[in-house]
Amino acid sequence: MTKVTEYISQSNGKTLFSIEIIPPLKGQSIVQLLDSVEPLMEFKPPFVDVTYHREEVIEKQQPNGLIQRIPIRKRPGTVGICARLMERFKVDAVPHIICGGFTREETEDMLIDLHYLGINNVLVLRGDPEKSVGVFKPKEGGHCYASELIEQVVNMNKGILLHEETHAIPTNFCIGTAGYPEKHFEAVSMDTDFQYLKAKVDAGADFIVTQMFFDNQMFFRFVERCRAEGITVPIIPGLKPLSTKKQLTILPQIFHLNMPQELVREAEKCEDDKDVRQVGIEWGVQQCKELMAYGVPGLHFYTMGKSDNVLKIAQGVF
Ligand code: FAD
Repeated sequence: MTKVTEYISQSNGKTLFSIEIIPPLKGQSIVQLLDSVEPLMEFKPPFVDVTYHREEVIEKQQPNGLIQRIPIRKRPGTVGICARLMERFKVDAVPHIICGGFTREETEDMLIDLHYLGINNVLVLRGDPEKSVGVFKPKEGGHCYASELIEQVVNMNKGILLHEETHAIPTNFCIGTAGYPEKHFEAVSMDTDFQYLKAKVDAGADFIVTQMFFDNQMFFRFVERCRAEGITVPIIPGLKPLSTKKQLTILPQIFHLNMPQELVREAEKCEDDKDVRQVGIEWGVQQCKELMAYGVPGLHFYTMGKSDNVLKIAQGVF
């Protein structure tokens, strides 16, 4: 299986097209998800990312009246979906691996599963805080920051396991990490955020995928600052087309991004979400054309289970 960085170096400057998908809610079928991905295969994504979702605590009242707190994973299945994607579409799957909810030992076992499946790309993340807690808390014996998880993967690539004395067969993971053109919401400043991003790359990250953004100037400034800080790895912009009026307020709340006034104005003029979706497509096409002219290595789309608008953008730019 090919590494993301190899796809980039072999592309001879041609912009790659890739997507991220989210596992279905527990109990739902995978068929719909795979069918939604299928039309996008026309644009030959070399890799498809699959997100990982930590457990959330639900509260259930027991017959005796007491409240039981039960940790459940609402979207399990990342590893299985990766296997299905590789089998059905002959693409490389890039599972996301997260610190949240995992001990180091559990992470090691998952990396071994991925290695056995022939997967050798991972996007390494800390993971979001549990919704009910609000601040990130690692599982006891787990990692606090993505940089620590990157170190663990790098060690496995050297054949170093956590507890075994003997040298193991080395894994061969190409490691991606997250970057935030508009700052990670917990970082006290842009300066510290760059400092920690640099630490992730120094620890062994081979490429960066950014948080979504709608204003290309934010991305350009981010790339320039990365280069000035000595971060030389490929930086792939993450993109999501605006598709509803509600997203004008929800996306900034969830992803801590800025909506350009021009996009807000155009979306607010729309009578319904069908029209907003069209505005989002047109914005996306312009955004992508500008990014391609800037020389980005790829365009990475957050599909969030819907592919028709991503398909239209791809048709408009490739
Ligand atoms: P880190 O790099 O660990 O940074 C977290 C915060 O801590 C930042 O504010 C950083 O500045 C700070 N920091 C870093 N190192 C240190 C240090 N040593 N000391 C003090 N502060 C430090 N979440 C999921 O749960 N599942 C997914 O599949 C998923 N996929 C994503 C894909 C992409 C492309 C992106 C951009 C995000 C994704 N997320 C996902 C969300 C991500 O987990 C959150 O944004 C999370 O809050 C931070 O993750 P990180 O890997 O950037 O963390």
